[in-house]
Amino acid sequence: MKSCLETFVDVLYGKSLMEASTKELYNALAKVVVKNVEKNWDETRNLNNKRCGYLSAEFLIGRMIYANLLNAGMLDEAKYILEQNNIDINVFEEVEDAALGNGGLGRLAACYLESAATENILLDGYGLRYRYGLFKQSFKNGFQNEEADDWLKWGDPFSKRVEDDTVIVHFKDMDIKAVPYDMPVIGYHSKVVNTLRLWQSEAIKEFDFKEFDNMEGVKTNDEAYKAKEITYVLYPNDNTLEGKKLRLRQEYFMVSASLQDMLKKFKKLNLTFKELPNYYIWQLNDTHPTLAIPEMIRLLKNEGLSFDESLKIVRKMFNFTNHTIMAEALEQWPIEMLEELIPDVLKEIKLIEEDLEKNLDKNKYFIIKNNKVNMAYLAIYVSEHVNGVAAIHTEILKNNTFKEWYEVYPYKFVNVTNGVTPRRWLALNNESLSKLITSRIGDGWVKNLGELAKLKGIENDEEFLKDFITSRNINKIRLANYIEKHEGIDIPVNYMFDIQIKRLHEYKRQLLNALSILYLAFEIKEGNLIDYKPTVFIFGAKSAPGYYMAKQIIKLINTIADYVNNDSVISKKIKVCFVQNYNVSYAEKLVSAADLSEQISMAGMEASGTGNMKFMINGTPTLGTLDGANVEIAAEAGKSNNYIFGLTVEEVDALKKNYKPELFVENNPKLKKVLNALIDGTLNAKFEEIYDSLLKGNEPDRYLVLADFNSYIEMKLFANKEYQSKEYYKKCIVNMYSSYRFSSDRSIKDYNELIWKL
Ligand SMILES: *Cc1c(COP(=O)(O)O)cnc(C)c1O
Repeated sequence: MKSCLETFVDVLYGKSLMEASTKELYNALAKVVVKNVEKNWDETRNLNNKRCGYLSAEFLIGRMIYANLLNAGMLDEAKYILEQNNIDINVFEEVEDAALGNGGLGRLAACYLESAATENILLDGYGLRYRYGLFKQSFKNGFQNEEADDWLKWGDPFSKRVEDDTVIVHFKDMDIKAVPYDMPVIGYHSKVVNTLRLWQSEAIKEFDFKEFDNMEGVKTNDEAYKAKEITYVLYPNDNTLEGKKLRLRQEYFMVSASLQDMLKKFKKLNLTFKELPNYYIWQLNDTHPTLAIPEMIRLLKNEGLSFDESLKIVRKMFNFTNHTIMAEALEQWPIEMLEELIPDVLKEIKLIEEDLEKNLDKNKYFIIKNNKVNMAYLAIYVSEHVNGVAAIHTEILKNNTFKEWYEVYPYKFVNVTNGVTPRRWLALNNESLSKLITSRIGDGWVKNLGELAKLKGIENDEEFLKDFITSRNINKIRLANYIEKHEGIDIPVNYMFDIQIKRLHEYKRQLLNALSILYLAFEIKEGNLIDYKPTVFIFGAKSAPGYYMAKQIIKLINTIADYVNNDSVISKKIKVCFVQNYNVSYAEKLVSAADLSEQISMAGMEASGTGNMKFMINGTPTLGTLDGANVEIAAEAGKSNNYIFGLTVEEVDALKKNYKPELFVENNPKLKKVLNALIDGTLNAKFEEIYDSLLKGNEPDRYLVLADFNSYIEMKLFANKEYQSKEYYKKCIVNMYSSYRFSSDRSIKDYNELIWKL
């Protein structure tokens, strides 16, 4: 490997290792990794076994260099070679994340590809190669500021442009070239190397300067611009639908290119189309790729099959994962827009609707209504399986969201609880804890997280307890240094690290956390809470640029941070830090250093969550509601080993029938004071809209912040009371060794056993 790396650096840049820049070293080292897995990659590609395509508008892959080195078994050697040249492998922390996704859904897709390769399961990723990923966030005067994410400035050395596999995607107004870029998906110590294929949109006729002078040229260049625009930028909305034409183009572009690609390969096998579902099936990551269903029918009809024959085949080819029950996130596309962009596909949707009317009561079941296509209903009607992403979420789908569909198709509904890869989320991000675990049970847990169960009972081993605390402190020091450098905020490492990191959304209730901090601040100022252990509240979150209330909440938390951190009395007990540009690489550092994991969504709203799992695997107890996968975390580790509070789903439903938030404020002067601080000038800015959202309007306090306030405070104080006790660290350790269920290896095996059957 040494000579290989030297040769690459020399051939590519004419330099020695020591002369090369970080970017040059990174690109060369990545090339060495790709070269190393090339043979396995070719072999995997040439297998004719049944496969699944994970079709997703987002792959939040983050930084690939360390994960790929680890998985390819090259990490130690790479460290050694670099060290010999006086280079610390950590220089690659400068390399920016590939943020081709918004949050949980995109990160899940990345974890699943990694786990599938590790488990020798043939799962390809298909998506879009956005020129700009999720925006970079900074704070200006406490407000979120967005900048373009030029992730390609570091190069894209793991990808290979495959010109020969270019396909044409047809829109009513133009034809567009889809050019694939392939990335190897390297499993941990496994032979299978899968492919992540991302499509880039390009004009069939390139921008032509010669023609630019005449009218013909204007038209060509306009088309070149419109073509490139399709994969230009990731839509920055998480859990909300933005019904833009360009977004619809992206979705169709992705599915048409991916299906054509698959069909081209299938046709080389000279089988009949009936055998297609034995060769290739698809997992739809939310409704974003649902147009694949009518598009597949269209493509089969182009091959000479009838609609009925095509539908019969297609019914065995698709499975649908639902990720949210929030109405504002469930996609519905106007017929008009489909007619304007992809009329041939709309035709197939209408034929599917006709088929539905033959089979089901059309007063109760529909795909098209009010001139809109309900993408979830389309997906459920045709898919073989529909799954939720945590046990409680699947139950809500069956009993509420898709109740009528569950009545006719009970056999379609299954649960597959989400997971995260233990390579990135323990082995790589938490070196100190990994070493400690390995010193006790060997390193088999990296491939099989279930082996952590061998540690059962070790929370009573004094030496392990001591070593665990030491390992946590190493990570806290590292995080504090990083935050000092990047945010300019001094965080004492002896403070409790209480962390809430996730997209900013009202349902995730960062506001509840913020109000609780104001409560604590006022109590401390009044001389109460003498025994409260110093705590730093750390936030990381991006808001969708057009989400006004979420942006106000960011400003509020930054305003509270100023208030708290600059008060000499309060800041002796608490500090607040909102880190900028929360992303995968930041998450890796945060979860290994956390003393408490905030998972405080209103029960019923967070389909699963995956951030909660990252903390658990790293041995951090959850301060959370019985929502999403928190329920299963509490079940696996024991409820008493976590800090569970608040209304349950059933209690939320009951309370919502006649909710009067003012009733929770009236007899609670401390809460009243907290709310008044939003508008009375206590803070340096006023937050009337937030205040009003809690107490006024036709749905005040939609996410029951005020109803859960007391039980949240109580549990937060209890967690603080236990912190630094033996009891507390025992809870940490039990969570860590009970976390197997939340490995994405387990999720992938569930998908395969329940759905794909590869
Ligand atoms: C894991 C992850 C998420 C999802 O977090 P939740 O708490 O499950 O919402 C979002 N963004 C990034 C960068 C992540 O790594």
